[in-house]
Amino acid sequence: ASLADMPEGVPASHRVQDRTAPAAPAPAHGFRNTPDSDPAIAANRDWSRAIVARMKDSTLGAQTIAAHTVTDEAALNTLIQDAADAAAAWRALGAAGRAEILHRAGDALEARRADLLEVMGAECGKVIEQSDPEVSEAIDFAHYYAEQARGLETVDGATFTPVGVTVVTPPWNFPVAIPAGSTLAALAAGSAVVIKPAVLAERSGAVMVEALWQAGVPREVLKLVQVSENDLGRQLLTHPAVERVVLTGAYETAELFRSFRADLPLLAETSGKNAVIVTPSADLDLAAKDVAMSAFGHAGQKCSAASLVVLVGSVARSRRFRDQLVDAVTSLEVGMPWDEASRVGPLIEPAHGKLLQALTSLEPGQRWVVEPQRLDEDGALWRPGIREGVQPGSAFHRTEYFGPVLGIMAAETLDEAIEIVNAIEYGLTSGLHALDAAEIDTWLARIEAGNVYVNRGTTGAIVQRQPFGGWKKSAVGAGTKAGGPHYLHGFGEWTDAASAA
Ligand code: GLU
Repeated sequence: ASLADMPEGVPASHRVQDRTAPAAPAPAHGFRNTPDSDPAIAANRDWSRAIVARMKDSTLGAQTIAAHTVTDEAALNTLIQDAADAAAAWRALGAAGRAEILHRAGDALEARRADLLEVMGAECGKVIEQSDPEVSEAIDFAHYYAEQARGLETVDGATFTPVGVTVVTPPWNFPVAIPAGSTLAALAAGSAVVIKPAVLAERSGAVMVEALWQAGVPREVLKLVQVSENDLGRQLLTHPAVERVVLTGAYETAELFRSFRADLPLLAETSGKNAVIVTPSADLDLAAKDVAMSAFGHAGQKCSAASLVVLVGSVARSRRFRDQLVDAVTSLEVGMPWDEASRVGPLIEPAHGKLLQALTSLEPGQRWVVEPQRLDEDGALWRPGIREGVQPGSAFHRTEYFGPVLGIMAAETLDEAIEIVNAIEYGLTSGLHALDAAEIDTWLARIEAGNVYVNRGTTGAIVQRQPFGGWKKSAVGAGTKAGGPHYLHGFGEWTDAASAA
């Protein structure tokens, strides 16, 4: 079947695209996922080699962020007020008008794919294998939310009124896709946006914002700001004109935000401590590969990363799965993103605190299957580590480390494995590797996580196919899932025509 024959919603991710040639025309209607850069095309290999060569000395985004750093209260208040003043005209454009600009924003992000890969590598240590799908995701958010906006204006006689100003406070681990997703959602819904990128990823955020401006998102409607001190950050969050705050970050950060203002209108995706269960019915070859990449892609610095693997029955008792996993993990090249061979890049900053502890010590009863190894002087570059003998209730069972550490647990039965996973207070992603249909049904019915993946890794949710968001302590506030059909609803209020009349 040709792409044109596919029903709406089938991703076009098998389409190959030479990145050095003009972009393929956008599909005439509906939403389709954006393909990643295919290294099978020789031109793409040259293209990515050139990006890698520019990475180390890249200064992309630096000027923009310098120009948008605010150092005093009055300037910050003016900036927020300007956004609030611009919101009405943006809203008045209507869904169709905004959708048109958002589709152009998707195209602009595609046009700047190489720049985005360059700055993410330079600033955040992301290897292209990891950052290229991230740009695709950002583009998907633009086109998907553009389409979603069209359905938002009037449903069953109820009218949607967007909020005036949304503040976006993204994390550093997905320095393009997450800021883009939150920003584009708010814009699609009709809100103005003030975005404050994570300090460790501010240049990446700035290049993303530049693309949106280039596409025609007015600068008054989308304000980029970096603040020079924490007090200004607090002022930004608590300004009376701010009607929504989108946070992706640690659970503790959500609590901190709430301590600034108890009634903060927060949409937050927070921490995760995610596990993959592997049962004896699993395709162990596939499971080993999925666990390795879910645990150690981007050095484990994902909310969605697998940090535990729970082996059931004979899988726990035999060496086979463990040996395959060790083989897969130890074969991963660790290095800086400007070294083309790197599969696992550096940590965003030298390991410290609980992550350093998890990289360097075991709890009673635990053994290293692969001992982590520090590869550089400051402790940012680590060969990933795997421990076994992780006991229910231990620190490793419960703690999110956000780094290249994986723990193996054992359970007699699937039921016991599910209990072990559900005992964790977070519930973001969860994985099952099993081919037995009854096991899959049992797990799906009982597992407590926002994103549940069967016979697939736990990272890399695809817009529209796998709307992303958590349960339990992995979400705070009135959030719905990003990249899903209800996400825009978080950026406004519905009024029933009948009750308003
Ligand atoms: N959406 C990302 C994924 O599915 C994770 C986002 C995060 O780490 O915050 O892998």
